[in-house]
Parts: sequence; structure tokens; C-alpha cells
Amino acid sequence: MTATATVGVLALQGDFQEHCTALQGLGASVVEVRRSDQLDGIDALIIPGGESTSMAKLMDAYAMRVPLRAFASSGRPVWGTCAGLILLASRLAEDRPEPLGLMDIAVRRNGFGRQVDSFETELDIAGVPGDAVHAVFIRAPLILDTGPDVQTLASLEDGTAVVVRQGHLLASAFHPELTGDARMHRYFLDMLPVGTAP
Ligand code: GLN
Repeated sequence: MTATATVGVLALQGDFQEHCTALQGLGASVVEVRRSDQLDGIDALIIPGGESTSMAKLMDAYAMRVPLRAFASSGRPVWGTCAGLILLASRLAEDRPEPLGLMDIAVRRNGFGRQVDSFETELDIAGVPGDAVHAVFIRAPLILDTGPDVQTLASLEDGTAVVVRQGHLLASAFHPELTGDARMHRYFLDMLPVGTAP
């Protein structure tokens, strides 16, 4: 019998607590990750929303950049939401922060412009069953371009991709952890190897 997976949430900065609550609600055992050695004990990782420059600074201060890249290279699922999406990207329109460069997407921080810094909408997300998901965008990053291996799971009406997946990497421009709807978290847990998901 395979052991049930443990999910880590990067807890350097941002709204990691809300992700932990959502995962625990699905019966997952959750670790708040603040040190690189904790990556050894987890089977999947969420990089939360927050402030990508601050998170990147802390990542470097705690020497987590290389271990995080190694974690992703091991094939274990990684999901970045909002600032987490920025950090997963391989190309940023801005000079800062330096992203982890894991996912073949080009991103502009705060790319929806000042007037619409924050907005809410309903999204149909491929692979998420049931009604549309209520999506909250807060100073959200704009995905400018996706590489050939990147699949778009949800888009705005104008065609802008807002949920993307590249194999074991998932990224969403909005905050699924803020609405009490755990269907995106369920989707992420189902990216774990068969028989191990909580
Ligand atoms: N605007 C933030 C950044 O650039 C991201 C906002 C968020 O995570 N809600 O890092």
C-alpha cells in the first residue's frame, strides 16, 4: 500500500495559511515550508500569493532557490498562485524579481493595470468539475505568452490565459485559497501519483 502524500506550502511570505486551511479541509497532511531540508519530506508544493519580490528575497536569504528548483526537477507537483505564478515563470517583463525559471511562460507583474488592479470573475477551468469557479484577482500577474508544452486550463473572455499547466507544474493568476472553494486544491492533489493523493 502506498503512503498518503504530504503537501508543503512555502511559508516565507504571503497567504500560505489560507492554502494550508484549504488542504487540511481535504484531509491532507500539510507542512509549512521555511527551510530547504523540509522539502525532502513533502510530495507536492504550493508557492502562495503575496509579494513576489519579497518572497524571492527571502528565498535567496534562506538559500532555497537551488533546492526549490531541484524539488521541481524531481517531478513532484508544484502549484504557484499569483506571486507564486510569477516565481514559477521562465520569463518576466520586469528585471525583478529573478524567477525560478521552471515554467515556459512569459509574465508581466501587475499586468492588469492600475484601474483593474483587483477584480472578480467566474471561470470555467478544464478538469475542475461542476459550476464555474469564482476567481479573485488581486494585483494579478498577466500571462503574456505560453510555450508549446504549456496547456491553458482557463482563460478570461478576451482569451488571456489565467490557469496553465506544464506537466507537473500548475499556475493560476488568481487566488483559489480565498473563496472557500477547494476544487482547485482537489485538482492539484489529483496531480499526485495515483493512489497517494489524500
Ligand atoms: N502583485 C504581486 C507581485 O507582483 C502579486 C500579487 C498577489 O500575489 N496577489 O508579486
